[in-house]
Amino acid sequence: MPEQQMLEKYAEVALKTGANLQKGQMLMINSTIEGAEFTRVVVRKAYEMGAKTVHINWSDDAITRSKYEHESKDTLADVPEWKVKMYDYFAEGGAAILSIRSTDPDLLQGIDGEKIQAANKAGAEAMKNFRNYTMNDRIQWSIVSIPITSWAKKIFPDSNGEEAVEKLWEQIFKIVRVDHDDPVAAWERHNSILSQACNFLNRKKYKKLVYKAPGTDLEVELPEGHVWKGGAAKTEKEGVPFNPNMPTEEVFTVPHKYGVNGTVSSTKPLNYGGNLIDDFTLTFKDGKVVDFKAGKGESTLKYLLETDEGSTHLGELALVPDESPISQSGLIFYNTLYDENASCHLALGKAYPNNLEGGSDMDEDELDKHGVNDSLSHVDFMMGSNELDIDGVLADGTSEPVMRNGSWAINFD
Ligand code: ZN
Ligand code: ZN
Repeated sequence: MPEQQMLEKYAEVALKTGANLQKGQMLMINSTIEGAEFTRVVVRKAYEMGAKTVHINWSDDAITRSKYEHESKDTLADVPEWKVKMYDYFAEGGAAILSIRSTDPDLLQGIDGEKIQAANKAGAEAMKNFRNYTMNDRIQWSIVSIPITSWAKKIFPDSNGEEAVEKLWEQIFKIVRVDHDDPVAAWERHNSILSQACNFLNRKKYKKLVYKAPGTDLEVELPEGHVWKGGAAKTEKEGVPFNPNMPTEEVFTVPHKYGVNGTVSSTKPLNYGGNLIDDFTLTFKDGKVVDFKAGKGESTLKYLLETDEGSTHLGELALVPDESPISQSGLIFYNTLYDENASCHLALGKAYPNNLEGGSDMDEDELDKHGVNDSLSHVDFMMGSNELDIDGVLADGTSEPVMRNGSWAINFD
């Protein structure tokens, strides 16, 4: 384990910059029992900051694996009502949510994909109300990761478990700016750089982005009224700032649900529900995936696309320069929170309604009319690299470079 002082700093930045826990507020934490030591630090800090109460939902990879091995598909897909009510209780009660998310990237290898699909779909269906709170920023929520042995060993296969965990702590502290004297201040600077990029892109109002890279030739329309976001978010009513993801290096917006054409190839493996999908290509026609293939995990990709109609359309488009510290680490993390912030990415599935002006007040039909996708799934996949060029097409039809060789081709000043 790292020094206590570093754990304290990480816990503090997760609570202050991430969830931005307020005095008198409830806090719900999702964590793995392998992270108990860090989680205890977070809980103590949360009370010191004035939390009204802290509730923990513990999970354990080994137990999750056992459940999938032994329970039937129907049992796995049966989400108990009390569980749904518990999440709703905290969301409706205005709690802040902190997820300390770390899992074995190969956790569900070899498990029947139909079981995983059924469980994921039922879980997403049951959590619809709760998810509306997070995806519309109605509550403060944040996701962070901590090393666990299985995950660390996947990144550093040549190290023994203990060494791998140490190395991963070191990377995480660097990437999440915990190694700065004042991590909270470092995050304020970082958030202001991201918001500068958003302001620039929001003024441009590109009609379309055109992606070109080896294996990628894709045109993505952006709906009228699309909004670029990045860095800190703000709660819908009270305007409390928070950082949904730590790390975050992306600026993102909503692609037009029916305006995507061409082919895109992945550049990093995607961990979907405990299985890896790698070397895959998606072909779009009028926004819908009409063809796909994968070098690895093709059946997992098929199950993902079969979740519902919306999972065959895009719901997010994010730009991340190759200078991102995560990309510069040269590592593949097999964890979307990290890998998506190393690379330009797209997401299949539900869009964030507030990536459209007035979107959070629209119902599903209205959002659809504006080209904003809905689905039970939202899965980011990485397609950026230092070989990616992106052009932005303006309202008058002229186009200009947005990214060249994976780096910003524009100056935000
Ligand atoms: Zn993203
Ligand atoms: Zn996403």
